[in-house]
Amino acid sequence: MNYVLAIDIGGTKLAAALVDEEGSVLRSGTRPTPRTDVMSALAALITEVTEGGPPPDAVGIGCAGPLDLAAGTVSPVNMPSWRGFPLREEVRKLTGLPTVLAGDAQCFALGEHWLGAGRDSTSLLGIVVSTGIGGGLVIDGMPLLGPTGNAGHVGHMSIDPNGERCECGGRGCVERYASGPNLARWALDNGWSPAFDGSQEQADARTLARDAAAGDPVAVAAFERGARALAGMIASTAAAVEITTVVIGGGVSAAGKVLFDPLERILDDVAGLAFVRAVKVHQSTLGVDAALAGAARLASMAR
Ligand SMILES: [Zn+2]
Repeated sequence: MNYVLAIDIGGTKLAAALVDEEGSVLRSGTRPTPRTDVMSALAALITEVTEGGPPPDAVGIGCAGPLDLAAGTVSPVNMPSWRGFPLREEVRKLTGLPTVLAGDAQCFALGEHWLGAGRDSTSLLGIVVSTGIGGGLVIDGMPLLGPTGNAGHVGHMSIDPNGERCECGGRGCVERYASGPNLARWALDNGWSPAFDGSQEQADARTLARDAAAGDPVAVAAFERGARALAGMIASTAAAVEITTVVIGGGVSAAGKVLFDPLERILDDVAGLAFVRAVKVHQSTLGVDAALAGAARLASMAR
């Protein structure tokens, strides 16, 4: 049996696992992402996960973006101490193993395609809907990364060229309609007053989902609006690259029916061509483990 080392790097957490070629996790560990000297923390985590175990023969890394795969560098938005950091080379030096790097949302898509809700699909779009919206494409079984590794940034596809200005500099991006903070923002602007139950709740997408499930009309309308933006993006992506399956994960996907019911209905309205209409939408089944599974799959491609 061959083993690979899978690594998932985010702004709050570092995760690593020793994974076999069928996707079973032999050993794993996590630790909080420190503000400085992330590389030392990562090195300690790698030692913890690999020491005394069977030796891996490749490393796959999923990292928060932006990144530059041509240079092998990362500059995660939430990790100010890494700007143009040569992550791929540093991990290669540390482990002495072939090392492959991709974006965390690309690894999410690859993981769901390998072991999750998109297991039987040929071509898949994975979407992570959370504070922002990330994405990744797996086309004919292979990750589509792009020349600098930034393919799949579906959160910044414009679904309204006359729409609001986005933080990315573009206009009318899906993220302005369907990310967690933007769902809550629109609802608050339109008269939503959260029905707090006295616990430490906030006026966020989780509370909005609960109120939508209870029938609050503004909360329902916010998810309807977000779902319409996602449906437009999904139909456009399907038309461009013929995906058969969409898997949606991230915190906002936990809203469940209040997101997925309108999404399926609106996608039916938005999509025209038969191959676009045939796209199946699923909720993530791997959850937070999807990116790590994808990193393992990425590593096995390095052999
Ligand atoms: Zn944008």
